[in-house]
Amino acid sequence: MVIFMDNDNYDVVVIGAGISGLLAALALSKEGKSVLILEKEENIGGVCRSYDVDGYKIDTGPHAITRLERGPLKELMDRYFDVIPQFVPFGKYNVRIGDEVKPFPWNINSWLTFGLIPKTDRLLIMKSLFNTLYLLNAGKNLSDISIQELIPENISSTTRRFLNWICYFLVGTSIENTAISRFIDNKTNKGSPIKYIGSLYDLFVTEGAQDQGYPKGGLLSIINSILISFPKNVKINNNEEVVKIQCSEKVEKVITNKCSYNCDTVVYSGFASDLPHLIDDLPHEYAQNLNKIKKVNSLTIWLGLNKKIFENYGSEMWIDSDPYAWMVPVSNFDSSMAPKGNQLVGFAFTIPEDYDTMEIRKKALNSIIKIQPDIEKHIEMIHYQDLIPEKAAWDINSGFGDVETPINNLYCVGTDTEKRSAGVSRAAYSVLRCLEIMESEGNINQFQIFNEKLELAAK
Ligand SMILES: Cc1cc2nc3c(=O)[nH]c(=O)nc-3n(C[C@H](O)[C@H](O)[C@H](O)COP(=O)(O)OP(=O)(O)OC[C@H]3O[C@@H](n4cnc5c(N)ncnc54)[C@H](O)[C@@H]3O)c2cc1C
Repeated sequence: MVIFMDNDNYDVVVIGAGISGLLAALALSKEGKSVLILEKEENIGGVCRSYDVDGYKIDTGPHAITRLERGPLKELMDRYFDVIPQFVPFGKYNVRIGDEVKPFPWNINSWLTFGLIPKTDRLLIMKSLFNTLYLLNAGKNLSDISIQELIPENISSTTRRFLNWICYFLVGTSIENTAISRFIDNKTNKGSPIKYIGSLYDLFVTEGAQDQGYPKGGLLSIINSILISFPKNVKINNNEEVVKIQCSEKVEKVITNKCSYNCDTVVYSGFASDLPHLIDDLPHEYAQNLNKIKKVNSLTIWLGLNKKIFENYGSEMWIDSDPYAWMVPVSNFDSSMAPKGNQLVGFAFTIPEDYDTMEIRKKALNSIIKIQPDIEKHIEMIHYQDLIPEKAAWDINSGFGDVETPINNLYCVGTDTEKRSAGVSRAAYSVLRCLEIMESEGNINQFQIFNEKLELAAK
């Protein structure tokens, strides 16, 4: 194979055009850098995009975009987007057990009156939660203690399934492998009991889903807003896979299946666990940790229904489903996602590492029909997606990546490099941290353009 040299000089090469790569490219280009984005697939957006199937607009998995009032995506949108996507409220998270559906108990009052699980279990879990304070005071590391160790053994199987559902969807793993610390925001708590009480307080008194939204027009509208906001100094090459990152102390060359590039800085947004294959002679301990990363696997079944079956505006956590399911009637948020009069519903399932694709699809579809039998005769479109929502489960015994790397001028972004929040918000947090680090190293003069914008707006 002949590898060509690209004669254009780029300040930054961004590897991967998922949401984290695109956000990083937008921020850096607006900070004055010339940026080349290399994406191995035909499509831009990674697992944050939308496409058409039989007249339905299908997202890559049902999405609730979180922390829209004060979170990292909002910060990046305010600073760098020329066009801000529109979000509609995501509504309530409802819990479905058996035939009953009730709102998720976000605060102490609703927890104590949450009738879907037995009262004794609710009290026992409250007690266990406050026991973590003793653990913290005793100097225990909450990252090493699992939820399983915290909760009493004698809780009912329904309560265990309820907790398991939460762990699978928030962390990507079971209660046995979920650390207590996962439910305390990583950056706001450095083991201080006072801050910890603050986190518990937040958990109990705030309406958790208040600042969440669904992007009008689907995930594509977020990607389109980024693309429209790109200045001229950004180039995107799709269908171009990075096969080697050549380094000494710093990155020297990025080599793809088509070309090779020189640049000052590389921002990598693919799987951190692929880095040991892309870079020769990584420090042993660093590579070993990356090799221990466990991906989160998901299946989504999209159903196009010829009438509206799910009337509730919000989504439903299906605790009885096997595998566990999250049901999101997307067209209730934005009717343009389905043909007129029809309903588009996404069912996301978290699934084990080694699974048989056809078998799990069949099992999941059967589970939907078992729980909601009247749905079957209204199905006119079925579409399956096997995707990786988080590139690293925050599992007790697994590895996890980081934004900083042992190589100067190589930074990583994406959901396997940052532990705050989840999904798109986690990806956005990783980009903010990348910018902070680059600024502290004198690599960019961050806030310069943001401040100029503010000054202009003030005039
Ligand atoms: C079913 C499902 C439900 C979800 N629900 C939510 C939700 O409710 N809320 C939420 O916030 N998030 C949700 N997410 C998660 C969210 O979509 C992802 O976490 C986020 O989009 C990941 O972005 P990323 O940039 O880190 O990774 P990716 O999207 O995986 O992007 C990485 C990109 O890098 C490219 N790449 C990799 N290696 C190379 C290489 N060597 N050369 C060139 N290109 C390369 C890939 O092709 C890809 O395009 C959900 C995801 C799924 C699947």
